[in-house]
Amino acid sequence: NFSSVGFIGLGNMGNSMAMNILKKGFKLTVFDINKSAMTNVIEAGGKAAPNVSDVAKNSEIVITMLPANDHVWECYTGKNGLLSTVNKDALLIDSSTIDPLVSQKLSVETLKKGAKFLDGPVSGGVVGARDATLTFMVGGGKQECERAKPILEAMGSRVVHCGDVGMGQVAKLCNNMLLAISMIGVAEAVNLADRLGLDPKVMNSIINTSTGRCWSSEINPPVPGIIDSVPSSNDYKGGFTTSLISKDLGLAQAAATRSNALTPLGSVAQQVYRTIMLHGFGDKDFSSVYQYLRGNK
Ligand code: NAD
Repeated sequence: NFSSVGFIGLGNMGNSMAMNILKKGFKLTVFDINKSAMTNVIEAGGKAAPNVSDVAKNSEIVITMLPANDHVWECYTGKNGLLSTVNKDALLIDSSTIDPLVSQKLSVETLKKGAKFLDGPVSGGVVGARDATLTFMVGGGKQECERAKPILEAMGSRVVHCGDVGMGQVAKLCNNMLLAISMIGVAEAVNLADRLGLDPKVMNSIINTSTGRCWSSEINPPVPGIIDSVPSSNDYKGGFTTSLISKDLGLAQAAATRSNALTPLGSVAQQVYRTIMLHGFGDKDFSSVYQYLRGNK
């Protein structure tokens, strides 16, 4: 029920997501403040807009994939933002990971213009973005979620309606808080085993058939040399950076404070990753917490 799509923020995630929309034959208008981020998408048939408001003018559905709260807020409500020119009945979907409260405020502002808003953060990382296997956690109206499905399914393999606006972000933040904690847990356990004289690879394999098993031990083990393709085996390059997980933990802590939820391990995890960022691990995969515990060895 729509033909023109807009996409803003063609970074590590957004670039591949935009390419997958084009592959499905949608008419696509794109914008990024970094012109070179748009080159391959334009070559593949996308149209570059001169600014954000031009994207809104030309699109029935617009997806934003920007770094953090302030970028998204400015993109929507700034002087030449999306809301300055958005079409009545357009659907705006923000797939960035941001504070659920900001999503809820964006929805209110969008409704004032006669358009609709969904939050739709993703899991699956850059590989999921490239292979169109992302999971979308969607908050907002059920009808709008259905309307968005054809476009979200061009970029992902699973679309889950989580509830009202903001609930997609809530799902994303809670999952990433657990992920952050579990990675520290695996790294601590394996390092302790090593210090006590047990081969860390053997310990990791024991965990994987025992009750400590989790994504951090099985799919993305922090110990190098267990799985060749994961970041730990490649000097912790690629993957999900320590600075991004720290950002998500900050959002989780802000939300926990507002809602009076106790998150003792989430708050310690945030301090651990912020500490290792100060030690130069910000651009490495967050499994490098293992390397940090070992004293950079
Ligand atoms: P990124 O920094 O690689 O990309 C962001 C892009 O937005 C950049 O190209 C930047 O130039 C552009 N941009 C910034 N401000 C802009 C503006 N005002 N107007 C237009 N373009 C602007 O970030 P990313 O890794 O693609 O992540 C995007 C979002 O997705 C973040 O919220 C992140 O937390 C979330 N996320 C990332 C991953 C991941 O593995 N990288 C996984 C899931 C979710």
